[in-house]
Amino acid sequence: MRLLVATRSGHKLREIRTILREFASMRLLDLNDAGVPYAEEEEEIEVFDSFEENARAKARFFRRRTGLLTVADDSGLVVDALNGQPGIHSKRFAPNTGGLSPLERDRANNAHLVELLRPLELAERTARYVCVVALEPEGEVFRGEVEGLILDEARGEGGFGYDPHFFHPPSGRTFGEMSSADKHAHSHRGKAFRALAERLTASDRSREDR
Ligand code: IMP
Repeated sequence: MRLLVATRSGHKLREIRTILREFASMRLLDLNDAGVPYAEEEEEIEVFDSFEENARAKARFFRRRTGLLTVADDSGLVVDALNGQPGIHSKRFAPNTGGLSPLERDRANNAHLVELLRPLELAERTARYVCVVALEPEGEVFRGEVEGLILDEARGEGGFGYDPHFFHPPSGRTFGEMSSADKHAHSHRGKAFRALAERLTASDRSREDR
């Protein structure tokens, strides 16, 4: 089964490939493999107010361009004390991130988050990562979430984005301190993509049985 993973984020793509490795019947294509050059209009896809709508819009867009079975995800960090911010704006949370490299943008976002939460006790720093995966043309979505606490100090070099500040209480570590296998076992992306893969491989099996 060929599946287009519609993202231009190298970090996400690597994570998704690792998560889906155990589902050997799925052959993943990225946008380069599918020969989809970057187009300016991609910047206008994720204009909605929810992870679901953004993920659906992205999956539909690339399905239309390729005709392939397509998945796209939208994800972010939801912080309770900030009324759900940065949420769908997680990628560009800090002011003036235009023109920064992805690494510089992550650093600016983390500094902004830490600054906003500085007065708060640990117990008030509850947050969750959310990942919504949309599958087209099926029109299905799969949601994964993981609860954590936001720390002032950065811990660990693993993962990306907010991971060094995202403490996962059941593991006693931040996502930045985990191996990628450990992160995927708990993460929002791991949960959402495993749900997608189970659904796809189950329907594949039922087709073979017929
Ligand atoms: P998207 O590309 O619109 O889905 O934006 C996702 C943004 O949410 C990323 O740029 C990160 O800032 C944040 N994010 C989502 N998932 C993760 C994760 O697994 N670790 C760290 N940050 C994440």
